[in-house]
Amino acid sequence: MSDHLSEKSARLTQSEIRNMTIECTKQNGINLAQGVCDLPLQDQVKQGAHEAIDRGINSYTRYDGRYELREAICQKAQQYNKIDCDPEKNIVVSAGATGAFFITCLSLLNPGDEMILFEPYYGYHLNTLLTLDLKPRFATLTPPDWQFDIEELEKLCTPKTRAIMINTPANPCGKVFTREELKQLAAFSIKHDLIVYTDEIYEYFLYDGREHISPASLEEIKDRTITISGFSKTYSITGWRIGYCICDEKWTTSIGHINDLIYVCAPAPLQLGVANGLKQLPQSFYQSIREDYQSIRDEFCSILEQNGMIPYIPQGAYYVLTDVSKVPGKSSKEKAMTILNTTGIASVPGNAFYINGDGENLVRFCFAKEKAVLEQAYENLQKLQIH
Ligand code: PLP
Repeated sequence: MSDHLSEKSARLTQSEIRNMTIECTKQNGINLAQGVCDLPLQDQVKQGAHEAIDRGINSYTRYDGRYELREAICQKAQQYNKIDCDPEKNIVVSAGATGAFFITCLSLLNPGDEMILFEPYYGYHLNTLLTLDLKPRFATLTPPDWQFDIEELEKLCTPKTRAIMINTPANPCGKVFTREELKQLAAFSIKHDLIVYTDEIYEYFLYDGREHISPASLEEIKDRTITISGFSKTYSITGWRIGYCICDEKWTTSIGHINDLIYVCAPAPLQLGVANGLKQLPQSFYQSIREDYQSIRDEFCSILEQNGMIPYIPQGAYYVLTDVSKVPGKSSKEKAMTILNTTGIASVPGNAFYINGDGENLVRFCFAKEKAVLEQAYENLQKLQIH
């Protein structure tokens, strides 16, 4: 029997994040490579799911998700994101933000169409495009503030460019796009008639008083924007696979049909757990995300500095891209391995976020970890002995 893989499958290499996780497990190390949030589950979310199972909610849901969840997402979208929406017209619940991005690309774009991604990028965005035979075009975000250059974006556009992806707050660099920047991107997307994809999975992880602005709240682009988000990060439920997209009703039915084909539905009782969380968790829960993570960010970045590394202080999300020029190694992979071998701490080599050999002096650490794990990491980092 032939053991050949499909071309697409062969093209998908093992992600560096997973590679580093494997290396880390071999050494029984501390995994700051993976963006898995280890924090406890909120009772309201847990109880909502328990009750749903007790009530026998075990069947397929409608292709766009349970009404209770769509309604709760709508309320939150109106209040927090300032997005106008209707639970029956504008929402498709899917298998996480990852599933939502996949089905919206498959529904709206054709092979050969181009999407602009900002670099450093999130690997799943790139791999989703490649798997669907879509073409990424890369626009640079320049540190330390990760600014983009509208002239560069203009030059990237070809007659095949159909979409742009805005990830705010961004993984891996932590950029939070400002209203002025989004207005500029809105004008650009109108000029070139682009669909605006936005990934807002870190929408509550914001530091130094920053505001999360959803591109779909800008009147001029609300009809062309697909807002993608989910609850993996906010509620620390990465394994539940609950996410969604919000978009104009001209698109939701087709997106829902593709969702039905690929995932059928997101897990039914878990949809109700999330709906309960959305209804019952107080505003103080979301406020404490900002405060708690900001204080971890500050401590984490200062420990990195004390140990000879230079963190690019993130504006949001829970990763730190860090300049590790002084760490021995010829590439970001070698540098990440030096850090792992000396301290037992796994990070992601910076070149995993760049297409053409950049990022070799960078690694990414994830700081969404329990206090005890972080304290052990702080102690271990001293073994690096770089000053
Ligand atoms: N989008 C971004 C930017 C992420 O960093 C991640 C997880 O790391 C996801 C989406 C995954 O979200 P989900 O678990 O809802 O698929």
